[in-house]
Amino acid sequence: MVGGGFGGLWTVRALKSTNVDITLIDRCNHHLFQPLLYQVATAGLAAPSIAAPLRHILRGQANVSVLMGEVETIDLATHRLHLGDEAFEYDYLVLATGATHAYFGHDEWAKHVLGLKTLDDALAIRARILTAFEEAELESDPQRRAAWLTFAIIGAGPTGVELAGTLAEIARHTLAPEFRRSDPRLARVLLIEAGERVLANLPPDLSVKAAAQLVRLGVTVRTGQAVTGIGADHIELGEERIPTKTTLWAAGVAASPLGRMLGASLDRAGRVLVQPDLSLPGHPEVLVIGDLASVAAGGQPVPGIAPAAKQMGTHAAQCIGASLVGRPRAVFRYRDYGSLATIGRRAAVVAMHGYRLSGTFAWCFWLAAHIFFLIGFRNRLVVLIDWAWAYFSYERSARIISGSTQSAPNRRAM
Ligand SMILES: Cc1cc2nc3c(=O)[nH]c(=O)nc-3n(C[C@H](O)[C@H](O)[C@H](O)COP(=O)(O)OP(=O)(O)OC[C@H]3O[C@@H](n4cnc5c(N)ncnc54)[C@H](O)[C@@H]3O)c2cc1C
Repeated sequence: MVGGGFGGLWTVRALKSTNVDITLIDRCNHHLFQPLLYQVATAGLAAPSIAAPLRHILRGQANVSVLMGEVETIDLATHRLHLGDEAFEYDYLVLATGATHAYFGHDEWAKHVLGLKTLDDALAIRARILTAFEEAELESDPQRRAAWLTFAIIGAGPTGVELAGTLAEIARHTLAPEFRRSDPRLARVLLIEAGERVLANLPPDLSVKAAAQLVRLGVTVRTGQAVTGIGADHIELGEERIPTKTTLWAAGVAASPLGRMLGASLDRAGRVLVQPDLSLPGHPEVLVIGDLASVAAGGQPVPGIAPAAKQMGTHAAQCIGASLVGRPRAVFRYRDYGSLATIGRRAAVVAMHGYRLSGTFAWCFWLAAHIFFLIGFRNRLVVLIDWAWAYFSYERSARIISGSTQSAPNRRAM
């Protein structure tokens, strides 16, 4: 099993009562609850609240060994994986290595933007945001101060929307009373989307409501405008050049590069085109799942979201179980439980089983769902307490900028 995210963990758990020896390999030592990463990036939660050591999660499952290491190559012919100098043989291989960032052919933008996929990314964004407010406080030139207080977020999917809404709230409520020379309430949070609407995965009427809630929180929403250039201190939208020291990337997604090693056909996002049972064409012993897999169910592409990865994980385990006893494998069927996205305090949208909600009720539903799905009782309790505290006090509990996470661009020369 390669990857201990949603797909990998659900595969391993579903194989608990079977007579198989599992080696779970992940380059990180933890399982990460990505849906709450933006909370770490915006100083609402500390990193350990949304992650848990894989070794600890699986301590009660005797048929699993956990190894921390990065799989570098896969030899399909000899059934071997390579991690540095070590090689591991497999009878069945499940690949669930997720996704990474894509910059629409502009890899040179990567050095000027921060994306959000890992805990390290979240800590870097948090440091960059908090440092920008500190730099604005130091700065006496109004134009340079405005650039520090301008935050551009590229991509208005769920992650972009969450970042934008929360950032606007922090500026207006959390930080405003604490700064003396600059006024954090003047911060410009720009949410830029090339498509015609925010949250394009949701029905159009909810996109309209989400955009209205963003505007109410103080976000400037610019849809139908593709970013054409990004530098260290600006972004470009066609002819328009906007000075900003902080650009966050929430737009393109590309599948993990491991998919390219399999020699199979890939879709435009680099995801592996798998068979209906999720196996690699020509290799029934290799299953590819989660964000790394491209599969259609009921004529629709299965989305790259956590419930889909979990369902694929359970299905991969069932396929292995079926093969072990010589039964035919079932076709993967995706159950769509709906979509939800939060925007900020008492602002969210939910589309589920034909029902549509927005505002406070949707926000309460979103909170409950995320607490419920978070792994670990301690994490649930800590998050619940942190959120309750933040709700009543407007404070963010994780605002320390430490040396190791400091990420301020273009600091002035002394
Ligand atoms: C910021 C953010 C917010 C999101 N919000 C939501 C949401 O609100 N709701 C929702 O349903 N979905 C959300 N998603 C999407 C969801 O998290 C993914 O669809 C899901 O995590 C995919 O599961 P996976 O197992 O395929 O990959 P992941 O969960 O990403 O796990 C991949 C694992 O593979 C490991 N790995 C990668 N490469 C290697 C390698 N070469 N060797 C060893 N290990 C490797 C990684 O360390 C990681 O642990 C969000 C994603 C992000 C990034």
